[in-house]
Amino acid sequence: MIIFKNIDYLDENFNWIKNVDITINDKAIQKISSNSDTALDPENAQIIDGKNKVVLPGFYNMHTHVPMTLLRGYGEGLNLQDWLNQKIFPFEALLDADDTYWGTLLGLSEFLASGTVSFSDMYMRMPGIVKAIAETGIKANLCNPCTGFDPKIKYSETESYQDEIFLLDYVKSNPETKIIADAGVHAEYTSSPEYVSQLLEFALEHDLIIQLHLSETAFEHEECKQRHQGRTPTEYFADLGVFQQKCILAHGVYVEEKDLQIIKSHDAVLVHNPASNLKLGSGFASVGKWLDFGVTTCLGTDGAASNNDLDILQEMRLAALVQKGLKKDPKLLSPTQLLQMLTFNGASAQGRTNSGIIKEGFAADLVILDLDTPNMQPIYDLATNIVYSANQSNVYLTMVDGQILYRDGEYTTIDLEKVIFEVNRIKSEKLALLD
Ligand SMILES: [Zn+2]
Repeated sequence: MIIFKNIDYLDENFNWIKNVDITINDKAIQKISSNSDTALDPENAQIIDGKNKVVLPGFYNMHTHVPMTLLRGYGEGLNLQDWLNQKIFPFEALLDADDTYWGTLLGLSEFLASGTVSFSDMYMRMPGIVKAIAETGIKANLCNPCTGFDPKIKYSETESYQDEIFLLDYVKSNPETKIIADAGVHAEYTSSPEYVSQLLEFALEHDLIIQLHLSETAFEHEECKQRHQGRTPTEYFADLGVFQQKCILAHGVYVEEKDLQIIKSHDAVLVHNPASNLKLGSGFASVGKWLDFGVTTCLGTDGAASNNDLDILQEMRLAALVQKGLKKDPKLLSPTQLLQMLTFNGASAQGRTNSGIIKEGFAADLVILDLDTPNMQPIYDLATNIVYSANQSNVYLTMVDGQILYRDGEYTTIDLEKVIFEVNRIKSEKLALLD
């Protein structure tokens, strides 16, 4: 049992509630009470002093490629297509499961230090990723998205399928796992309709959420229309039946109003990745319009090779600033809308309906921020300070399912020094092969 004593928290409407005791028992938030109620602390409880601290729901990073930390800073100054074809794909071809293990651990270190408790990820060499996540204790929805055009090779003969089977077997044989198996389609431009149809059949058979890249660049969006009788990527995937399953759609920079209608009507989720969209020169998503259509919206960092960090707090701040400047509307994206995208929307999109809110009975997936720092004082409105003033140096503690994974700069399940050594070894080995 852990008790946060005399601590503040943000309730489900992001109201600032001051000075309570929060009891964590097993994996859940057992009790939230005014501190006078818990004068008698149960014996053997770990007491954490909450003075000048606030508890928030843990953050959900809804679009990542976590082992791409290995490629952080590699392939700079290119647009998406050149970046993928000239730099990223040749490097990735050299990676094995040991490499993705170390790359994942580096990414998870960054997640935990910046308050992320769960993420939705697309990547390959799945055994290494799963091993790192299982050792660390963070939550994740994983897929290895299908790619391919060769009519002679079936989806069930691809590496993506092998990784998906590995994931499904792992989840089945580890009922306590925090990993959820998703399915994925990399993008319209990296697979044929036949592959997408086979992937859909697989997702329907196992009832899996489908993660996709969608309308990330103008080039992709317009080329799709040329290839498919004027249909946008959203219309193309809708016609193939992909939206029968819950879909997590990354980017959506060029989605049109007719696309937003389709997305909304199928209760699909759009994930906004402003840093990656800016860095690759892809453009500006119209997030205000997504919200006007009532589309559930989340935030993501994308991979560390196109961001180049995984701090979701920075992503939230950037999303707010860019949208306001772009639309010349300072009212666009309120602090509570942004915090909801960062927390509850992600949890429900991943199918984790018992997470994303600080409330009795919910999973103890939470972050504690330090308020006793120059950048967080004074406080007129706490949600505003969190969106515009906070950064990862304010993250004091990150907890997943009641387990402290990060506290005061220290990891409980990761040996960061070893991870940094191994990642640099991998970098040197791959560069020698590529030169
Ligand atoms: Zn991506």
